[in-house]
Amino acid sequence: MMLDETHDPALESWVELAQAPDCEFPIQNLPLGIFKRRGHKEPARGGVAIGDQILDLVALDIRTGPTLNGLAAMGRSAARKMRRELSRALSVKSKQKKRLQKHLVPMKQGELFLPVAIGDYSDFFTGIHHATNMGRLFRPDNPLLPNYKWVPIGYHGRGSSIVVSGTAVRRPKGQLKAPDAAAPSFAASRRLDYEVELGFIAGAGNRLGQPIALRDALDHVFGVVLLNDWSARDIQAWEYQPLGPFLGKSFATTISPWVVTMDALEPYRCPAFARSSEDPQPLPYLLDEADQRDGGLAIEMEMHLRTPKMKTPQRLSRGNFRDSYWTVAQMVAHQTSNGCNLQPGDLLGSGTISGPAPDSFGSMMELTLAGKNPLQLASGETRSFLEDGDEVIQRGRCAREGYATIGFGEASGRIMPAASK
Ligand code: CA
Repeated sequence: MMLDETHDPALESWVELAQAPDCEFPIQNLPLGIFKRRGHKEPARGGVAIGDQILDLVALDIRTGPTLNGLAAMGRSAARKMRRELSRALSVKSKQKKRLQKHLVPMKQGELFLPVAIGDYSDFFTGIHHATNMGRLFRPDNPLLPNYKWVPIGYHGRGSSIVVSGTAVRRPKGQLKAPDAAAPSFAASRRLDYEVELGFIAGAGNRLGQPIALRDALDHVFGVVLLNDWSARDIQAWEYQPLGPFLGKSFATTISPWVVTMDALEPYRCPAFARSSEDPQPLPYLLDEADQRDGGLAIEMEMHLRTPKMKTPQRLSRGNFRDSYWTVAQMVAHQTSNGCNLQPGDLLGSGTISGPAPDSFGSMMELTLAGKNPLQLASGETRSFLEDGDEVIQRGRCAREGYATIGFGEASGRIMPAASK
């Protein structure tokens, strides 16, 4: 772990609400995003979340422009230096309070945008409980395919339809075919689902043809966002063989606006997933002692549902990224192992993270056994899959004894009816 004075749990900010008990953005967090003041004609620019406020990075003479790609490209040591600078400026000990106060925008008045321009997006499948649950629906005796414990499986997703939290999601239409139907029809998806994931944003990239070694991989990650990989299970079921997910996924992917940097996450690193003694050792390019020791990340991930009839959302699940079979570094090393280049702002999705217990399952497909066992909601309603007007709200949190508790904000989206034409 690379801990420094910015992780000190005793550190306090002159932004008073940063010390509030449930505050997601204490001074130990300092996540970065792109914002503007709602209703003002002004350019979107970089800010840091602190308490209930956004500090405009211009206050520290950091001019990002409308995306954080430039900051991401500067790499990990520059990010670490900037974090120290922000921490000092926002600390109660800072002498800059008077000057910086003018650059605060209350979060309630801020409009948040996608934090980076995403050139490429790939989505992995690292949640072994999810992979097992999904596999069991099709192959009860042999749920995991033989490559799962050798290869961090992934596919190339669609970058253009990634949206920021709060963006409404239109129910997709597509080819649907029930197993007993003779032919498919073209209609609105009836099995619309979410997937609880994390998104890793690439920092300084690599040149085409030059893989990133496992031990250097975390230097190429800028930070982490929440990611909901909306999935139309009926479109997916008909189209996915033999080339994998396509239109059942590419209609929308939601991410949270605040990028929690890799440095903010240092205190919450944990051992990599404990493989069973029968599991194969990863091949050498995926195996590193330090990565096995503390390459995991203990990040709690929750999903909440609010139907139009509910006043307050109901939690559907709480999982933890500890249950990822592969580490972030292994994903980065594998993605680039063939020489493929990552560029600043590229997004790597973790894949759905589920834990072993049903209350940790990260998709409705798992929670309802593919719709066979509908959820009984506190409102008296039932759900097999999402209905129009339903809103899902993903949240994330890191808590560890002896350290501050930090949050990720939220990644939410409400389902709109399918287009009429
Ligand atoms: Ca996924």
